[in-house]
Amino acid sequence: MFALHGTALGGGIVIGRARVLEAQGLDAKRYRIEIPEIDAELKRLDMALFQVRESFEKLRTQLPVDMPSEANAMLEVHGMILDDPMMIEGAKRLIADERWNAEWAFADQAEQLAAQFDALDDEYMRERSRDIRQVAGRVLKSLKLQLSAPGNDPQLALDNDLGDAAIVVAPDISPADMLNLKSALGFVIDLGGTTSHTAILARSMGVPSIVGLGKASDLIDDDDWLILDGDAGIVLVAPDEAVLGQYRERQQEQQLEQQKLRRLIHIPSRTLDGIDVKLMANIELPSEAAQAREAGAQGIGLFRSEFLFLNRTDLPGEEEQFEAYREALQGMHGFEVTIRTLDVGADKTLPDAATHVAPNPALGQRAIRFCLAQPEMFLEQLRALLRASPYGSLRILIPMLAHQHEIDQTLKMVERAKEQLRERGEKFVEDVPIGGMVEVPAAALSIGLFARRLDFLSIGTNDLVQYTLAIDRGDAQVAHLYDPFHPAVLELVAMTIRGGQKQGKSVSVCGEMAGDPAATRLLLGMGLTEFSMHPVSLLKVKREILLSDVSLLSARVQRLLGSDDPIKVESALRRLRESA
Ligand code: PEP
Ligand code: MG
Repeated sequence: MFALHGTALGGGIVIGRARVLEAQGLDAKRYRIEIPEIDAELKRLDMALFQVRESFEKLRTQLPVDMPSEANAMLEVHGMILDDPMMIEGAKRLIADERWNAEWAFADQAEQLAAQFDALDDEYMRERSRDIRQVAGRVLKSLKLQLSAPGNDPQLALDNDLGDAAIVVAPDISPADMLNLKSALGFVIDLGGTTSHTAILARSMGVPSIVGLGKASDLIDDDDWLILDGDAGIVLVAPDEAVLGQYRERQQEQQLEQQKLRRLIHIPSRTLDGIDVKLMANIELPSEAAQAREAGAQGIGLFRSEFLFLNRTDLPGEEEQFEAYREALQGMHGFEVTIRTLDVGADKTLPDAATHVAPNPALGQRAIRFCLAQPEMFLEQLRALLRASPYGSLRILIPMLAHQHEIDQTLKMVERAKEQLRERGEKFVEDVPIGGMVEVPAAALSIGLFARRLDFLSIGTNDLVQYTLAIDRGDAQVAHLYDPFHPAVLELVAMTIRGGQKQGKSVSVCGEMAGDPAATRLLLGMGLTEFSMHPVSLLKVKREILLSDVSLLSARVQRLLGSDDPIKVESALRRLRESA
């Protein structure tokens, strides 16, 4: 037996046999073709592109209803890469002008495009080079199938060559291929960080998964028995009977746990002392509203609208945005939908934003600062939001506010967007609530001025921790210092909740802390009654709520907040979690 360690994506424990998939490298044979063969070679490339496009389309139309909605988004990204005109035209030029074979011509162009992404500083953009190689791998596979099995339907071969119930081990897996692996028990992947599309999809499929394992696919053989602990980030290869026995027990405990959790879906989320707590979902795309509802969410507490703007070469106009916002509102059937205005900058950049490289992007022209600097784009989004407002219960949320004048300017922009719509004779809800994110310490420290001007507040703990502790939330080297339970962070969160409530304004937490069951009692004790999180965390947090008595928690949390001794705070936190 031996153990391999990687980056945990969660999903619990699974035991099963390994199915090792080959690398989808871009190694392509290179040879010259004759002039009379050029047309046929160009047609071969067109055919392969067509087949892969069709396979994406087929996957999209056949997505089962229980498939995470990220699946659709992944297919869209891969479809866009496949249609990249520079890559296709470049490959065709190499075939027609230089007489290279289609495989090599396409691999060369895809590799060049991927290398451009590899060279970028931004981790998210670097991950896109994997998407390009994955898409190109499918095109090469289709070209190969045309030669090796000309009588067969290469389409079918592409779609059916993956997948029975086993733990899938691979150097890398494209999101599109993952969709063919619906019955996989888990994923063990050599490459990758947690922001790759593959990781995002694996996590939302809810099966145990680990990335960044280095050489696992070399060290593990087909049919090896594996224990995969997706929470601990450990794979045990060829475990002995005693270890297998232990893990089987733990696995059964987890399964029972899941079953029990599912029974909570229709139970109102109310504490032991009768306080109703609103549990909402965070989504990135409008289509995820349905998934949120199925998980029992009582609304959308955060729709990160910037995801409509990423992974594309153009920007969505008013009409496209209007349709997206309307879809989310209609999908929630009257439940509240909080749509955040564009939060770009730092790790999320727009296609044409490469002109200015900020020395400290997280402290630069991000979120509302960017929107106020681009009034036309901001007004377009505000108009789209307001036009969607009659289709449900909309709240508009503004990210990264730090100054009073930013709030005032934003509210003026909302009025201007309303004026423009009135002039156009468009309908909208006059009093759509406008809220602000509290994610900069300055906002928490001057919460009164925020609470007086805005209709509601939402605490973004991901950024609040980053800006309070001066820790880049995306930098692995300082990740051990990123501490949501630091006394300073807790004080700012508590101040915000108190400050909002004093003005009678609703306050929610929508950062990762809201979905961490270890923080639920702490937040309840601070007086929080609105939580927004990824739908997979909803029931775990609800269970904590059902077992909590806020009347007892408040005094304990007040004492905990009064201490600035991190050791005392930590042990008080532990006791809080352990108590009923
Ligand atoms: C946050 O900062 O906590 C938040 C919810 O916003 P994002 O994670 O999108 O920056
Ligand atoms: Mg944020």
